[in-house]
Amino acid sequence: MTDINRRKFVTMFSAGAAAIPLSALITSLPSHAADPLVDAASAQAVALQYVDVGPEGKMCISCALYTGEAGTSVGACPLFPGSSVAAEASCSAFVAKS
Ligand code: SF4
Repeated sequence: MTDINRRKFVTMFSAGAAAIPLSALITSLPSHAADPLVDAASAQAVALQYVDVGPEGKMCISCALYTGEAGTSVGACPLFPGSSVAAEASCSAFVAKS
């Protein structure tokens, strides 16, 4: 293998190796849109004082932990894995977006 072919192979292999984990990550991300809404009566929700409609300025849509997209009514929160939270909801762990 000549130096040019080896360099070309290493470059192509590196690009491919970098692309595979990124694509695997993107396709393996869970879709929270399909997750059921948090049950406000669940132990986790009660412990975090989760409410379906929070006070103005302290709703999930304004929380740094909320990962829902703008314009959607629900999104994910790491405090409630496997569930969606309403954009208008709130809890005691609210952290204002900076
Ligand atoms: S931490 Fe609380 S306020 Fe923030 S997104 Fe999660 S449920 Fe909503």
